[in-house]
Amino acid sequence: MADYRHPPLPCPACGYRLDAAVNVFGGRAPEDGDYSMCLACGALGIFTLSGKAIRAATKLEYERAWLDPEIVQAWQALQQAKALSRDWPTGPGPT
Ligand SMILES: [Zn+2]
Repeated sequence: MADYRHPPLPCPACGYRLDAAVNVFGGRAPEDGDYSMCLACGALGIFTLSGKAIRAATKLEYERAWLDPEIVQAWQALQQAKALSRDWPTGPGPT
Protein backbone atom coordinates (compact mmCIF):
# COMPACT_ATOMS: atom_id res chain seq x y z
CA MET A 1 0.00 0.00 0.00
CA ALA A 2 1.12 3.54 -0.69
CA ASP A 3 -0.19 6.89 0.46
CA TYR A 4 -0.74 9.64 -2.10
CA ARG A 5 -1.34 13.25 -1.23
CA HIS A 6 -3.58 15.18 -3.59
CA PRO A 7 -5.22 18.60 -3.58
CA PRO A 8 -8.26 18.70 -1.29
CA LEU A 9 -11.27 17.09 -2.97
CA PRO A 10 -14.70 17.29 -1.32
CA CYS A 11 -16.51 14.06 -0.53
CA PRO A 12 -19.62 14.10 -2.75
CA ALA A 13 -21.71 12.79 0.15
CA CYS A 14 -20.63 14.86 3.17
CA GLY A 15 -18.26 17.54 1.90
CA TYR A 16 -15.28 16.38 3.97
CA ARG A 17 -12.13 17.54 2.22
CA LEU A 18 -10.12 14.46 1.31
CA ASP A 19 -6.43 15.18 0.68
CA ALA A 20 -4.85 11.72 0.57
CA ALA A 21 -5.53 8.29 -0.81
CA VAL A 22 -4.26 4.83 0.00
CA ASN A 23 -4.16 2.42 -2.88
CA VAL A 24 -4.84 -0.99 -1.40
CA PHE A 25 -4.26 -2.75 -4.71
CA GLY A 26 -0.80 -1.50 -5.57
CA GLY A 27 1.68 1.33 -5.61
CA ARG A 28 0.18 3.88 -7.95
CA ALA A 29 -1.73 7.14 -7.75
CA PRO A 30 -5.53 7.15 -8.11
CA GLU A 31 -6.78 6.83 -11.68
CA ASP A 32 -10.14 7.45 -13.30
CA GLY A 33 -12.62 4.81 -12.24
CA ASP A 34 -10.86 3.90 -8.99
CA TYR A 35 -13.02 3.83 -5.88
CA SER A 36 -12.59 6.39 -3.13
CA MET A 37 -13.84 5.85 0.41
CA CYS A 38 -14.48 8.93 2.53
CA LEU A 39 -12.62 8.86 5.83
CA ALA A 40 -15.38 10.89 7.49
CA CYS A 41 -18.60 9.22 6.35
CA GLY A 42 -17.55 6.04 4.54
CA ALA A 43 -19.34 6.98 1.33
CA LEU A 44 -17.90 5.58 -1.86
CA GLY A 45 -16.85 7.85 -4.67
CA ILE A 46 -15.17 7.42 -8.02
CA PHE A 47 -12.02 9.24 -9.06
CA THR A 48 -12.40 11.24 -12.28
CA LEU A 49 -10.41 13.82 -14.25
CA SER A 50 -7.18 11.83 -13.92
CA GLY A 51 -7.62 11.53 -10.17
CA LYS A 52 -8.26 15.27 -9.69
CA ALA A 53 -11.95 14.96 -8.79
CA ILE A 54 -14.27 12.54 -7.01
CA ARG A 55 -17.89 12.00 -8.00
CA ALA A 56 -20.52 10.06 -6.08
CA ALA A 57 -20.63 6.35 -6.82
CA THR A 58 -23.75 5.19 -8.61
CA LYS A 59 -26.06 2.52 -7.22
CA LEU A 60 -24.51 -0.01 -9.62
CA GLU A 61 -20.99 0.96 -8.52
CA TYR A 62 -22.03 0.47 -4.88
CA GLU A 63 -23.44 -2.95 -5.72
CA ARG A 64 -20.18 -3.91 -7.44
CA ALA A 65 -18.12 -2.58 -4.54
CA TRP A 66 -19.97 -4.69 -1.98
CA LEU A 67 -18.98 -7.80 -3.96
CA ASP A 68 -15.29 -6.95 -3.43
CA PRO A 69 -14.07 -8.43 -0.12
CA GLU A 70 -11.25 -5.88 0.16
CA ILE A 71 -13.61 -2.92 -0.17
CA VAL A 72 -16.02 -4.47 2.32
CA GLN A 73 -13.16 -5.13 4.74
CA ALA A 74 -11.89 -1.55 4.40
CA TRP A 75 -15.40 -0.14 4.97
CA GLN A 76 -15.91 -2.35 8.05
CA ALA A 77 -12.53 -1.29 9.47
CA LEU A 78 -13.49 2.35 8.95
CA GLN A 79 -16.82 1.86 10.74
CA GLN A 80 -15.10 0.11 13.66
CA ALA A 81 -12.52 2.88 13.98
CA LYS A 82 -15.28 5.51 13.91
CA ALA A 83 -17.20 3.68 16.64
CA LEU A 84 -14.15 3.68 18.90
CA SER A 85 -13.29 7.34 18.38
CA ARG A 86 -14.77 10.30 20.22
CA ASP A 87 -13.53 12.87 17.73
CA TRP A 88 -13.74 11.20 14.35
CA PRO A 89 -13.75 13.80 11.56
CA THR A 90 -17.02 14.78 10.01
CA GLY A 91 -17.79 16.68 6.85
CA PRO A 92 -17.39 19.29 5.73
CA GLY A 93 -13.80 19.29 6.83
CA PRO A 94 -11.52 22.26 7.38
CA THR A 95 -11.29 24.68 4.49
ZN1 LIG B 1 -17.95 11.83 3.26
